Amino acid sequence: MSDQRIPVAVLGATGNVGQRFVQLLEDHPWFRVAELVASERSAGKTYREATDWRLGARMPESVAGLKVLDYHAELHSPVVFSGLPGEVAGEIEQRLAREGHAVLSNTSTHRMEPDVPLLIPEVNPGHVAAIEAQKANRGWKGYIATNPNCSTIHLVLALKPLQDAFGIEGVLVSTLQAVSGAGYPGVPSLDMIDNVVPYIGGEEEKMQSESQKLLGGYTAVGGFAPASFVLSAHCNRVPVRDGHTECVSIRLGGAPSPDDVIAAFEAFRGRPQELGLPSAPPQPVIVRREPNRPQPSFDRDDAKGMASIVGRVRECPLLGTKFVVLGHNTIRGAAGASILNAELFKVEDLLP
Ligand code: NAP
Repeated sequence: MSDQRIPVAVLGATGNVGQRFVQLLEDHPWFRVAELVASERSAGKTYREATDWRLGARMPESVAGLKVLDYHAELHSPVVFSGLPGEVAGEIEQRLAREGHAVLSNTSTHRMEPDVPLLIPEVNPGHVAAIEAQKANRGWKGYIATNPNCSTIHLVLALKPLQDAFGIEGVLVSTLQAVSGAGYPGVPSLDMIDNVVPYIGGEEEKMQSESQKLLGGYTAVGGFAPASFVLSAHCNRVPVRDGHTECVSIRLGGAPSPDDVIAAFEAFRGRPQELGLPSAPPQPVIVRREPNRPQPSFDRDDAKGMASIVGRVRECPLLGTKFVVLGHNTIRGAAGASILNAELFKVEDLLP
């Protein structure tokens, strides 16, 4: 029987995020990888020859023999997942959207544009309405939709139930971010072993502006209206392979107790759970009650890496409430997030 699944292309297919796309799409019920794109360094080689496969399981046989295309190639897949570096993504993603593809991007380039949805399907599924405005403004047949930065997404998944239940007045977050978040080869090993690097260029600004866009509103007339709470972020790179940990202090409305906060996390469900989307975690936010969890090496793969894992919910003498949130940076923080967006678009009839 012929494969009825929707063909998809992966841009940046040989990179950290690209490899995750290939891995997560291997047995996807709705999508199949049909085209792989990388730089001129890789183009013309088979995916097996071009890729230094760095994930635990083997490279899927279904893609190993595909020829890698360069970014000038004409693509035939209606859906394009992008894991391109920011410096090159702008032009390539725009061309593909103009030509009629649905481009689902991990890159920061277009996230904050006034007609581009920045989406977490559990948090702001209504922002898909911006796609119509984008196509009209730009005269494009297709469109670009984005998912947030890898640390923002796990923070915002934890903030959304608290915003709904209590209202948010202010957030202070300090991250401990994995090395795989910097791409490959990323941070030199001599900078990372026995060390913490207290600077990740542009990351603190992204956490602030993206969180406010995600937790804000959208109307066809007024466009995006950012949420008004103040957020201050400290971003640090630590010698962990995968999984970003974030220590959050937060001022909420109504001074809820830690038990109230835990109840809000545990009750939280969104559109992907209602719709039963294939990549949706059963619970977007999982609460751990042990005093020493979550930890990246034990907990990042919980719910197949698609949930945010919260722990250490307790009173904060400064802002009222504090907790830790951990999430997988290349699964829910990148490729898995784009795939969940595409699943929502399929159900909402937004795919070309
Ligand atoms: P990476 O490991 O450095 O991979 C970059 C990929 O882009 C490679 O496949 C590379 O191909 C390709 N590429 C480079 N220049 C190109 C060009 N001119 N034309 C076409 N392809 C080109 O980076 P990454 O960590 O996967 O990150 C990719 C994007 O996702 C970045 O924008 C990053 O900010 C974002 N992101 C990353 C994470 C994370 O946790 N890593 C999370 C969220 C978002 P070659 O192998 O042929 O050079």
